[in-house]
Amino acid sequence: MIVGAGIIGAAIAYHLSRRNGIAVTVLEREVPGAGASGHSFAWANAFGKEPREYHTLNRRSLDMWYRLAHQLDADIGIHYGGEMRWENTPQRATQLRQRIQQIQKWGYPCRLITRDEMLAFEPHLHPGTVAAASFSEADIHIETDRFIEVCLQRACEGGAVVHPQTSVTGFVVREGSIVAVKTTDAEFPCEGVVLASGVQTTELAAFAHAHIPQQRSPGIVIETTPCAKVLNNVAIIHAPPTDENHQHLHLRQMGDGSLRIGQGTQEGINRDDSQHHADALLARAKAYLPAIGDAEAIPTPVGYRPMPLDGFPVLGFTEAVQNLYIALMHSGVTLAPLVGEMASLEIADNARVEWFAPYRPERFG
Ligand SMILES: Cc1cc2nc3c(=O)[nH]c(=O)nc-3n(C[C@H](O)[C@H](O)[C@H](O)COP(=O)(O)OP(=O)(O)OC[C@H]3O[C@@H](n4cnc5c(N)ncnc54)[C@H](O)[C@@H]3O)c2cc1C
Repeated sequence: MIVGAGIIGAAIAYHLSRRNGIAVTVLEREVPGAGASGHSFAWANAFGKEPREYHTLNRRSLDMWYRLAHQLDADIGIHYGGEMRWENTPQRATQLRQRIQQIQKWGYPCRLITRDEMLAFEPHLHPGTVAAASFSEADIHIETDRFIEVCLQRACEGGAVVHPQTSVTGFVVREGSIVAVKTTDAEFPCEGVVLASGVQTTELAAFAHAHIPQQRSPGIVIETTPCAKVLNNVAIIHAPPTDENHQHLHLRQMGDGSLRIGQGTQEGINRDDSQHHADALLARAKAYLPAIGDAEAIPTPVGYRPMPLDGFPVLGFTEAVQNLYIALMHSGVTLAPLVGEMASLEIADNARVEWFAPYRPERFG
């Protein structure tokens, strides 16, 4: 039984449904993708991930996106092309050069590029001052709704059943194991439960006396109306602040031509879902990409990141209840291929994947 049909629940459902003898049921209180996955900037990368062990986990998963896309052999909304960024002050340029040097040492395929190379990649760009620029070749972005739909479709072809609009309200626990899941509709008997319920994981785990603390981490990624194709080669751009009162901005373009734009970092706190904020963010993007002049901002509601208290994933069976598996994380878009496949090894084969050792639920006591 999988609780939650976000990118993580969908990836686990897909992998488990490929196993003989495992009956997969997915319970989703709204519709698939309604949680953080639908509000995400969805940049799969290991660029800023620290420490090295966590960088490597993300890097492995990023590389696994290419195999998963091949395996699913459908339009999963994956956009290849890498990430390009630049800085416009000497101080931030130094930081960028240092970061590139560091992650090159870790084997990350990224490099410094010149202004001319930037413009050769993206001729529509008006970057202004370029004090340093870089290109991270392997980075991609994903249209999460497409990916979730394909995973669930494939899972259903393998015998899985998905119940939307079905909210889990508790568990029936006997002799240390969950034997049934209580929902607003009915009680579902089960052999095991995977909590892939995003921010609600803490509350649901508490029903089984498991302590999975989270921080509150609101963020905003605005949408725009469709516009002409503006990124010819790269999948994602990170642009420097237009002035010292603003943050960096990041931008990607979807298959239908609409844009997704965020500001600050992928972990930055932002609760301003007003039209004013959306218009101002788009205006800053237009300064760099005048070719998106026709796009109009559509304000989107705040998205809440699943964010474990220490910022790192929580993966594995709980000590409190032996057949309760937790799959909670930020960077779930990056990590979905790896978590989907490795969690399935732990659940279906009773393996203990060593890569997950630093991320076990019991670290919270
Ligand atoms: C603004 C923002 C920007 C981000 N940018 C990036 C990025 O660039 N790169 C990256 O890798 N990650 C990014 N993330 C993080 C990433 O989106 C998440 O880590 C990922 O989407 C988590 O997926 P999930 O399936 O675990 O959770 P969710 O997508 O939240 O799915 C959980 C599901 O569980 C359901 N659910 C909850 N409670 C119940 C219940 N009681 N019963 C039944 N169902 C229930 C919810 O409705 C939801 O559909 C970003 C997140 C946000 C919000």
